[in-house]
Amino acid sequence: NCSCKSCDKSQGTCSADTNESANKYSEEINTRWLPYIMKISNAVASYTPCDKNACSCHYPLLKKDLAVFKDGITKNMIQSARERGTFYQIINKKLYRQSDCMFPSRCSGIEHFILKIIDTLPDMEMILNTRDWPQVNRRFGDVKPVFSFSKTAEYMDITYPAWTFWEGGPAISLYPTGLGRWDILRKSLGTSAEEWTWSKKKAMAFFRGSRTSSERDSLVYLSREKPNLVDAQYTKNQAWKSDADTLYAPPATEVPLEEHCQYKFLFNFRGVAASFRFKHLFLCGSLVYHIGDEWIEFFYPQMQPWVHYIPVRAGATKEEIRNLLDFAIENDEIANEIAERGQQFIKHHLRMKDVLCYWRKLLRSYAQLLKYSPEKEEGLIHIRPKAQ
Ligand code: UDP
Repeated sequence: NCSCKSCDKSQGTCSADTNESANKYSEEINTRWLPYIMKISNAVASYTPCDKNACSCHYPLLKKDLAVFKDGITKNMIQSARERGTFYQIINKKLYRQSDCMFPSRCSGIEHFILKIIDTLPDMEMILNTRDWPQVNRRFGDVKPVFSFSKTAEYMDITYPAWTFWEGGPAISLYPTGLGRWDILRKSLGTSAEEWTWSKKKAMAFFRGSRTSSERDSLVYLSREKPNLVDAQYTKNQAWKSDADTLYAPPATEVPLEEHCQYKFLFNFRGVAASFRFKHLFLCGSLVYHIGDEWIEFFYPQMQPWVHYIPVRAGATKEEIRNLLDFAIENDEIANEIAERGQQFIKHHLRMKDVLCYWRKLLRSYAQLLKYSPEKEEGLIHIRPKAQ
């Protein structure tokens, strides 16, 4: 993706004296950092920001997810998918659900959004998977319509905005009823970001979380070697049995997301699926290092590597991570610019109204694919808004 005259296509790099974007930094930079600088300037140049006032920013994903069902969704397809999640119906502007839900607070977090837009929705029925893991692997061939909050390209699940924007996120000691209330966290993280402006932040990397994926180990090891550069420690989760589960160290105390804002460099890793951590980190105005690109939530595809965050290879070694941190430390202004773009994106395109808007467009588009008129099924419970 080179745009300069003297271009090494295998590296995607340009030589400093022939490229305009590179010249902007040429007095200070060491050629060591030129490949990264070129990646950033190319990514920024080819990035088209979404319109702030429209909520269509995230629609490409729903179009892609639903394209699999272009021939329509039959009653048989729904029946064959029922065991993969919780069955819901919307009939005459009322929401119905099978009586049991595997994770009640997750169902409740989903229902909060559907009930808010129910007056705008036609009749439909659908299967909502509340497990962490997506359900319909493309390799097995069967086309089944199942909604899931996170997936990789290997799955044909229809991505929906996670329950945790309202409630039902991971229950840790800081959020005993489960991480949620994105509306409140947006404000408290904004306040913390105002206090911890870029120049006040510590030029260190920070991570706190449990070992839901071993991809996190390299950073924890680097932290043990270079505690002045990285503070990354494992906390306990419900599966914790011994120090082995925290990489042979006692579990660290949990740290509220707002306190993450003290640090310039914040790390996001997948857990079982995509981690809910990701969206919060940007609101600190810190530079986000995002490891791996396979697992997504509905808003990930519109965020671009090098524009909004620093991408890190899944399975990156300590040395690779160290190198990317050194880059940001030695190129403070560039690091700050990426952090600001990430922060602005989440501020303007991941508001509660964007989440609602995605739900509305998703369900209305999905309903159009149904090849039959759903009829109210016996035995379902009527879901009503909860008293606030
Ligand atoms: N979390 C937090 N402070 C901590 C540890 C975790 O705020 O000290 C949050 C974290 O941001 C994430 C959730 O708790 O959204 C669960 O984190 P964990 O690492 O246990 O699991 P993940 O969902 O990331 O796999």
